[in-house]
Amino acid sequence: MTRLVLILGDQLSEGVAALKAADPDRDTVVMAEVAEEAGHVPHHPKKIAFLFAAMRKHAARLRRLGWQVDYTPLDDPDNTGTITGELIRRAAERKATGVIATEPGDWRLRAALEEMPLKLHMLRDDRFIATPAEFEAWAKDRKQLRMEYFYRDMRRKTGLLMDGDQPAGGQWNYDHDNRKPAPDAVTYPGPLRFEPDDITAEVLDLVEARFSNHFGQLRPFWFGTDRDQALQHLDHWIAGGLSGFGDYQDAMLADQPFMYHALIGLYLNAGLLDPLEVCQKVEAAWKSGHAPLNATEGFIRQIIGWREYVRGIWYREGPDYTSRNVLGHTNDLPDLFWGAATDMRCMERAVSQTAENAYAHHIQRLMVTGNFALLAGIDPAQVQDWYLAVYADAYEWVEAPNVVGMSLFADGGIIASKPYVSSGNYIDKMSDYCGSCAYRVKDKTGPRACPFNLLYWHFLIRHRARFSSNPRMGQMYATWDRMTEDRRATVLAEADAFLSRMNDGKRI
Ligand SMILES: Cc1cc2nc3c(=O)[nH]c(=O)nc-3n(C[C@H](O)[C@H](O)[C@H](O)COP(=O)(O)OP(=O)(O)OC[C@H]3O[C@@H](n4cnc5c(N)ncnc54)[C@H](O)[C@@H]3O)c2cc1C
Ligand code: SF4
Repeated sequence: MTRLVLILGDQLSEGVAALKAADPDRDTVVMAEVAEEAGHVPHHPKKIAFLFAAMRKHAARLRRLGWQVDYTPLDDPDNTGTITGELIRRAAERKATGVIATEPGDWRLRAALEEMPLKLHMLRDDRFIATPAEFEAWAKDRKQLRMEYFYRDMRRKTGLLMDGDQPAGGQWNYDHDNRKPAPDAVTYPGPLRFEPDDITAEVLDLVEARFSNHFGQLRPFWFGTDRDQALQHLDHWIAGGLSGFGDYQDAMLADQPFMYHALIGLYLNAGLLDPLEVCQKVEAAWKSGHAPLNATEGFIRQIIGWREYVRGIWYREGPDYTSRNVLGHTNDLPDLFWGAATDMRCMERAVSQTAENAYAHHIQRLMVTGNFALLAGIDPAQVQDWYLAVYADAYEWVEAPNVVGMSLFADGGIIASKPYVSSGNYIDKMSDYCGSCAYRVKDKTGPRACPFNLLYWHFLIRHRARFSSNPRMGQMYATWDRMTEDRRATVLAEADAFLSRMNDGKRI
């Protein structure tokens, strides 16, 4: 008797757990493009096209490898619109005895699978370096779950950048070398761009017909859509981008959406690249003298450190993590996040590049859009839906801890020891945005004062009871207390006026 083997859109690895547990001579793979997954938040058309094209190519590959694959395209008239609906339909057709699945990366779908009236064998997703049990063992008796210590364990576990039991070069972390402001010019030409093949072209027409009302531009479409292309892109970045990755990791330039970033999150998270293989290739570039240690370490830390750590937090904190809002923020997400005109040059750049590429690099996500959302008191659930929708690499397991924890401090400090907030100064130091902004970054008050300057103090004062005893924030409150009473009143009144304009839907 056959069993169904569920392969989701972000499970496109040949070694995914459900495939390893199944038998090609007996079992049937089920893959489906379903309206519920594509539309439960309004995903960027480029993201939907990337996933559908990569799924179709993966299905073709599995067939070549000898698997029987039942694939449901979005426009199949029998498509039930949900993953569970497709499994139930295919189970009846095939008289299947049950379903083998790899656990999904969001709790909503996991619950739906568990409630389905079919026998389910759900396997742990073992495409991560740390198991949930290892993360739990590391986390359970700690007061603070600081990524740095977890990362060192992952270095020891993988042997990456290790010299015996010591870190290569004598230090675990070279972050202090990785904070250079924006350079005058970027030497990396950006990600490898692929011409859509026939399968991708067909998907593009489908997505255009069905999802053109979603935020973001579908064309030009240039993402790779299979493992070979993902590997080509990785090699291209290692050859041209890796060496500048460390120095300019936090830098932003208005006309450089990618800087020296790898743009591999979409490939990694869909399963086209494996995290360990990526790190080993990067380590090999350093060993052969093609990359400096600060870039190599900084990059490997993002993958075996941050990526694994946020996965561990998401798993450990469970389904209610996404609804946390300890700061009680309730403002609606302003329309500028969906492309409405704004006078803030930094926000305009981050949002319009997101619309164009389904991508923004980390520091834009954290210190521009995330910083603004936190300072402006926006409801974390709405912010999460936005990040989940607009980025090609976004899945709940990685998006939620980054948004709820790292960016919005909505989890009360599980991930961040203090909120990532800054005035306009930080953005000015790290970018070239402010010079051509309608606001003036040097103005702390007045009609053209940078909104980040006003909102920064408004945030700190709104949450003084919570943060003033934080040793890393005492200095900020001391600065505020040294201001004259008049100045403090002006800052707060102007910030209130800005927030009222925002909440009234006016251009800001
Ligand atoms: C508010 C916010 C939301 C985010 N949402 C997502 C998301 O939905 N999906 C996602 O993959 N990443 C997310 N990140 C993390 C990070 O911004 C992206 O992984 C990165 O920008 C992807 O681009 P890249 O591949 O060019 O990464 P690079 O800068 O080149 O880094 C290489 C890789 O390191 C990993 N990495 C780096 N930082 C993180 C991190 N904080 N958490 C997890 N992995 C990390 C990613 O796999 C990334 O591809 C978010 C960060 C913030 C602040
Ligand atoms: S002045 Fe303020 S709003 Fe304008 S780009 Fe700079 S930080 Fe952004």
